[in-house]
Amino acid sequence: MSKVLIIGAGGVGAVVVHKCASLPETFTEITLASRTLSKCDAIAAQLDRPIKTAQVDADKVDDLVALINSEKPDLVLNVALPYQDLTIMDACLATGVNYLDTANYEPLDTAKFEYSWQWAYQDRFKEAGLMALLGSGFDPGATNVFTAYIAKHYFDEIHELDIIDVNGGDHGYPFATNFNPEINIREVTAECRHYENGEFVTTPAMSRKARFTCPEEVGTYNIYRMYHEELESLVINFPSLKRAQFWMSFGDSYLKHLEVLGNVGMTGIEPVEFQGTQIVPIQFLKALLPDPSTLGPRTKGKTCIGCVVKGMKDGKEKIVYCYNIKDHQDCYKEVQSQAISYTTGVPAMIGAKLMLEGTWAGEGVFNIEQLDPDPFMQGLNEYGLPWKVIELDSFELSD
Ligand code: NDP
Repeated sequence: MSKVLIIGAGGVGAVVVHKCASLPETFTEITLASRTLSKCDAIAAQLDRPIKTAQVDADKVDDLVALINSEKPDLVLNVALPYQDLTIMDACLATGVNYLDTANYEPLDTAKFEYSWQWAYQDRFKEAGLMALLGSGFDPGATNVFTAYIAKHYFDEIHELDIIDVNGGDHGYPFATNFNPEINIREVTAECRHYENGEFVTTPAMSRKARFTCPEEVGTYNIYRMYHEELESLVINFPSLKRAQFWMSFGDSYLKHLEVLGNVGMTGIEPVEFQGTQIVPIQFLKALLPDPSTLGPRTKGKTCIGCVVKGMKDGKEKIVYCYNIKDHQDCYKEVQSQAISYTTGVPAMIGAKLMLEGTWAGEGVFNIEQLDPDPFMQGLNEYGLPWKVIELDSFELSD
């Protein structure tokens, strides 16, 4: 018997709700709350079992506390935006409830994401005897767990990590983002940081490009090195890593649009005055772009996301690749959503399930790779994101 409060009725929230609702023995009661009640009700109407819905402004701790006190959940699952992470963590502390999210905190007025703000809650969660699980999506999330699983089962010591996120899907729009446009654009326009010889090295955004051929005939894609939040915790939790990099595929049309939008100031996060009103360009742009949660029916193709790890086993160097391939249309048939929301929402449900069942337990703030990877990997196979591990003879990324 357990009850979850899911906050955020966007693309990812819809998948989380679908997947939790399909496991009534674990998720006995579900409440979905978000800023716009009608979005919660629309998701609820897609389900074949009843859930509760509520309106909440998750920027306001008092409102969250009131909602949590009235719903009395065992766990709050935060799939709103990274801006709300700290207010939701504050509300969980105030009400004595465990916490889970899929993206690290980012202040609205600074395009900078890092774990320091959430790691600062460590002592408070410990003292309260509560658990906060950070980054239970796909990347971060499954990619952290892939790394932990490979390190646990295939190596004595891991040395190099390349996380490669390919989206071979096509939605037919000249420009659209697969998850929240504001968060997506802030992420891909940020300076690149990768880890090399004990420190993070900064290079200009999108300045390093390579070609990558996915397994199982998903195709060959241009991938670009960029900063991604899981690198920050992985290099701490796997201190034997000498290099860690994150790569994502982008199509030429996406990059061309992004460049032009950046050049004309449309991706800016500073308010500008327009006809007597202050507007933030990137928020205005978000209003013009397709809502990612509407891309499901039109997105065709597959995602291929995984980790290539080099390291040592029994004195010999070896290379292991763990990946998942997911078909956008299969996701749409199952939960009326494209694969980016699906690959985030399923790991969020699995993390929540493991916490509610007590398989993953602890006091304090945890990055997901700190927990035993095995039950999560089993969950991925069971709930729609099967993975494979293959050994590679060689691995070099080049232009
Ligand atoms: P969406 O923009 O589709 O959904 C966000 C939802 O949060 C919306 O329903 C929005 O409400 C709601 N929301 C925003 N602000 C508030 C607020 N103040 N109070 C209450 N609700 C609020 O985003 P996605 O579903 O694409 O992404 C959700 C999260 O998942 C993000 O944090 C994103 O970074 C993360 N993510 C993680 C990934 C991973 O692999 N780890 C991959 C993809 C996403 P409204 O509709 O009214 O605006």
